[in-house]
Amino acid sequence: MGIMTYQVLLFYKYVTVEDPAALAAWIRDRAVYYGLTGRCLVAEEGINGTFEGETEKTESFAQEILADERFADMQIKRSAGNGAAFPKLAVKVRKEIVGTRFPETIDPRKKTAPRITPDELREWYEKGEDFVVIDMRNDYEYQSGHFKDSINPGLENSRDLPEVLPKLEPYKNKKVLTVCTGGVRCEKMSAFLLENGFEDVQQLENGMHGYMEKYPGKDFEGALYTFDQRLTMDFGGEREVIGRCRLCETKTEAYVNCANLACHLHFLACENCQGEKGTFCSSECRNVVEQVAVTA
Ligand SMILES: [Zn+2]
Ligand SMILES: [Zn+2]
Repeated sequence: MGIMTYQVLLFYKYVTVEDPAALAAWIRDRAVYYGLTGRCLVAEEGINGTFEGETEKTESFAQEILADERFADMQIKRSAGNGAAFPKLAVKVRKEIVGTRFPETIDPRKKTAPRITPDELREWYEKGEDFVVIDMRNDYEYQSGHFKDSINPGLENSRDLPEVLPKLEPYKNKKVLTVCTGGVRCEKMSAFLLENGFEDVQQLENGMHGYMEKYPGKDFEGALYTFDQRLTMDFGGEREVIGRCRLCETKTEAYVNCANLACHLHFLACENCQGEKGTFCSSECRNVVEQVAVTA
């Protein structure tokens, strides 16, 4: 690895926060002090954040937050930044740190699936263990890269898990491993599966990020999507592009948003298919906008 000028931190913890507004104010203050950008959600149920800054400053921030005993054992994941991963800093108080709108009985502070480590998963793969990986990210994230042979429930949003549950029915009695980018979504997703009769559910500690830091290029096909302006994360190691342009099927890892603002679908589109004045996910979306333009 070369000299990293910028670094991106990814962290979360489900832990009771008595005064989310006060904690959010403190986090914002420290982030401003260290010149960090990014976002962090603070709720009564915990925190979920990602910040970018100069590497040393992100480390100073990490030290400060780990000094708070509520977060002393919080795992902080690190990846290379580019100095422009986030346009600004946003620290917000929310009801949930991941918007699931699940019933309140789904509470990782009380019950969630057991975790396995990247090492254990590597062993499962090596031994040819009988298990199925369910990818709890959104469909468009799955498209640029995912664990080999993993199941994509086709979520448009974390809120949709109850809706896609029937698709996962065949895995109810199987050994299931839920995965997501850094682990935060799986805390509730895996609990939701357990609550709904799935017998043997585990979640991957630190998510794909943790696995790829440890085993770059192994068992994961394509690139790891990230919700910042890097769009995908690179951990080194061999990597094949598996994403395909929604419009022409050419291999690509380039994401765009549908230029029909009413649609705004996030999808993969190769350079050739990207229009100068915007890219449309479908001819329907193109027609909507172009007809409006004609009648205007
Ligand atoms: Zn294309
Ligand atoms: Zn569209």
